[in-house]
Amino acid sequence: MSKKILVIEDEREIARLVEIHLRDQGWEVTVRNDGASGLAAASSGRFDLVVLDLMLPGVDGLEVCRRIRAASDYLPILMLTARSSELDRVLGLEIGADDYLTKPFSVRELVARVKAILRREEALSDRAPESRLELGELTVDMDRRQVTKGEQEIELTAKEFDLLAFFAAHPGRVYSRAELLDHVWGYGHGGYEHTVNSHINRLRAKIEDDPGKPELVLTVWGVGYKFAEPAGADEGGS
Ligand code: CA
Repeated sequence: MSKKILVIEDEREIARLVEIHLRDQGWEVTVRNDGASGLAAASSGRFDLVVLDLMLPGVDGLEVCRRIRAASDYLPILMLTARSSELDRVLGLEIGADDYLTKPFSVRELVARVKAILRREEALSDRAPESRLELGELTVDMDRRQVTKGEQEIELTAKEFDLLAFFAAHPGRVYSRAELLDHVWGYGHGGYEHTVNSHINRLRAKIEDDPGKPELVLTVWGVGYKFAEPAGADEGGS
């Protein structure tokens, strides 16, 4: 089935260019030129992905992103921005965009990023039979993107959730920061390994009993990180 992509971009030439090249991939493309009408379209539930410009007249891209994230259905967002500082880049990911592209960007890169996000979403939804992971006290509900520890619900940002979901689905396997960037953040984030560290630290602060002595998200010195294997998996209990 053809993917449906919403493009929210006020610069008509860029919007047109993006529209043409995404359509070339066989995807259905809808364009909106301001935040309010873009948000209305995004809320329709018809779309598989949103390409969202940060600087928009009226309701800006950050606000659109926040409101899309506040909705119950998960809608992937690729953010476009003219700002290029690293801080803004990290901020864009922090507020819940799935990926981030700085203008001017190449159309090939845009298409590659969109494909990567769609592939990731498909991979996540293909895991339907394991949509609930129980890891000791921790329960990860993949469909509802909810995490509870004991009785308590834990609030995670979109990326923290992706990171945990990825880890938790592969307990015991060691990943380097570069691999985590690749799998969780997607294509083209080379050089942003510190982003992984900061997300790991925040995730630990939220899910570990003692973030200073993590028992779930473990550091493998000189290599990266891994999610703890279930107790007794290789030690026969105790
Ligand atoms: Ca703009």
